[in-house]
Amino acid sequence: MTSKRALITGITGQDGQHLSELLNEKGYEVFGLIRGQRNARREAFVAEFPFVHLVEADLTDPSSLLGALKTSDADEVYNLGAISHVGYSFRNPQLTADITAKGVLNLLEAIRQTGRAEEVRFYQASTSEMFGGLDYNRPGKGYNEMSLFHPRSPYGVAKLYAHWIAKNYRESYGMFVACGILFNHEGERRGVEFVTRKITDAVARIHHGLQDHIELGDLWPKRDWGYAGDYVRGMWQMLQHDEADDFVLATGETHSIEEFLTLAFEEIGVDDWRPYVQQNPEFMRPAEVDILLGDPTKAETDLGWKRDVDFPGLVSRMVQHDLKVTDPNR
Ligand code: GDP
Repeated sequence: MTSKRALITGITGQDGQHLSELLNEKGYEVFGLIRGQRNARREAFVAEFPFVHLVEADLTDPSSLLGALKTSDADEVYNLGAISHVGYSFRNPQLTADITAKGVLNLLEAIRQTGRAEEVRFYQASTSEMFGGLDYNRPGKGYNEMSLFHPRSPYGVAKLYAHWIAKNYRESYGMFVACGILFNHEGERRGVEFVTRKITDAVARIHHGLQDHIELGDLWPKRDWGYAGDYVRGMWQMLQHDEADDFVLATGETHSIEEFLTLAFEEIGVDDWRPYVQQNPEFMRPAEVDILLGDPTKAETDLGWKRDVDFPGLVSRMVQHDLKVTDPNR
């Protein structure tokens, strides 16, 4: 049997890396979109993932997408490419709309133009940011696939367009389009612009005497944080399912940033994190998502998906990794 072929956008990001690894283990031939000129991540990515074929294209350039689809001749397309940071999206709302929202439309249209729309399976990276934290329709139970949307950032709004246009192509053209509504997922490959990695990186540096404090925004928001490695498995399972559908991936637990700080500092033997943390308004958002809690029952029941890493396990894993990579004596 010839091996399956997958094309991943956003391949140099956290999820792109985890998914490349998973698909390679499963015997896929993996292709990844990369923006051509001066992509700072390219060299490091090639060194770590030599098995990935990189194809130059841009989500804002439809003809380049058609070229990438023809080169890869992919059976499965995973659209993970996006401006993916909520804070950044407030500062660059138009760029966010061009890439995160319209990029999906460009990619779906390019798939139609290949003439293989009915053969290709498409994964759209939808997000819990589409819900916006206003838990008015299922108080306390967590969001599921039926919950109302109320995005609270340019990122969330762009992702909601992407979600609906993806569903529209499923309904209009009979395409196999699965939308994974993923709650926050973190790990050792998370960028330091996200609060979890910012904290674990700082905790490790504080332990090694390389810095003496960390500056953060609001500490009360709560998130449903899982491990990225578990979540990319769910993406793959969605494309193997007999029906294209929407699925929430989440842990079903929610924790505040204060709780994350407590566990992260405990990992280096510090009981009270307060002396090490300063608040800086620069890291606060114009509109905040107070609490996110997801209900993954459908994915667990229909796909047999299950997360392996729990909240304390996630924090410990990230701090231990950062203690190693920041160790001045290594
Ligand atoms: P998000 O849930 O996709 O926005 O993921 P983030 O990791 O960027 O943010 C999670 C929560 O942490 C949000 O409520 C932020 O407002 C809050 N937060 C507090 N301080 C910081 C900070 O210094 N950086 C980031 N990125 N978020 C922070």
